[in-house]
Amino acid sequence: MRKDNEILFFTSILDSISEHIVVIDHNGDILYVNKSWQRFAQKNDCMNRGGWEGVNYLAACDYSALAGDDFGRRAAQGIRKIISSDTDLFYLEYPCHSPDEKRWFMMRVAQLKLPAENLYVISHQNITERILAEEHVLSLSRIDGLTKIANRRHFDTFLENEWSRCIRLNMPISIAFIDIDHFKELNDTHGHLFGDECLRVLAGTIQKFAKRPSDLCARYGGDELAIIFGNTTLEESETLINSLFSAVREIKFKNMPPKKAPQITVSIGLANVCPKKETSAEELIRAADTYLYTAKKNGRNRICSGRLNLDAG
Ligand code: GH3
Ligand code: MG
Repeated sequence: MRKDNEILFFTSILDSISEHIVVIDHNGDILYVNKSWQRFAQKNDCMNRGGWEGVNYLAACDYSALAGDDFGRRAAQGIRKIISSDTDLFYLEYPCHSPDEKRWFMMRVAQLKLPAENLYVISHQNITERILAEEHVLSLSRIDGLTKIANRRHFDTFLENEWSRCIRLNMPISIAFIDIDHFKELNDTHGHLFGDECLRVLAGTIQKFAKRPSDLCARYGGDELAIIFGNTTLEESETLINSLFSAVREIKFKNMPPKKAPQITVSIGLANVCPKKETSAEELIRAADTYLYTAKKNGRNRICSGRLNLDAG
């Protein structure tokens, strides 16, 4: 193959792939970009008006790092490590969302094996499909299969984060446990499938009360649901829980004839605290559990609530 045909052959290959390819020298100056890179840069407004000539890749990363972009900082750091031969290969996965689309890319940087020159190839591969699939799996792992609300694992992590946030910002937090009364009997009388339906409808009703980002409704286990209200006082939580309790009383089961449909009732234990450093959310869980126990003991179908005093020791 003649030399110019050979060049055409290789540039055509590079232009046919979906990865964005950039070649830079040891100063970071761009020497070559493939078609895919050009198209992406033009579409996303990340090129000089005159194209890529005269653009310094490292300077562009430093610029976004200065503007507060941590991925820009890490990219510049990785490229410099390759240039100084500290490492052979550098990978970075980073988000690059457009106004109408979520996108992620993987950047890969390596030195080109050339006899006379020190050049470096940077490729960007779109990994959005993989990241979205991972996010989907993660969200499934946080959801209870029957009720489709958060599961116990998600409840634990959420509570830990919200607990720390409330300590930092000196804010109160509440937990309520909501347990169906005589659920075993209900299962025995109306069947397990109806029991499942009760749990689904109850979860849907309770979830409506976890409105803010600092609230979470979860299935804690069995017939026990839980709700977290971050940055909420005892009085505010009691108002919410009273409305929730009334909403549960209003539950109607569509698929059962009116005469047969039982009215479910719940018992609720609600505890509130202003968390302090070196205390654990377990103390609030224990308090809410104790209030629930009292509600059951005092005849069920009621709310029992109070404040947890962490100073009491
Ligand atoms: P209490 O008023 O003291 O809460 O009585 P209870 O019968 O509700 O409490 P107990 O803990 O004795 O029984 C809970 C029942 O919840 C037993 C179990 O069979 C039922 N249960 C737990 N998970 C599920 C589920 O996913 N579906 C159904 N249908 N029932 C469940
Ligand atoms: Mg129960």
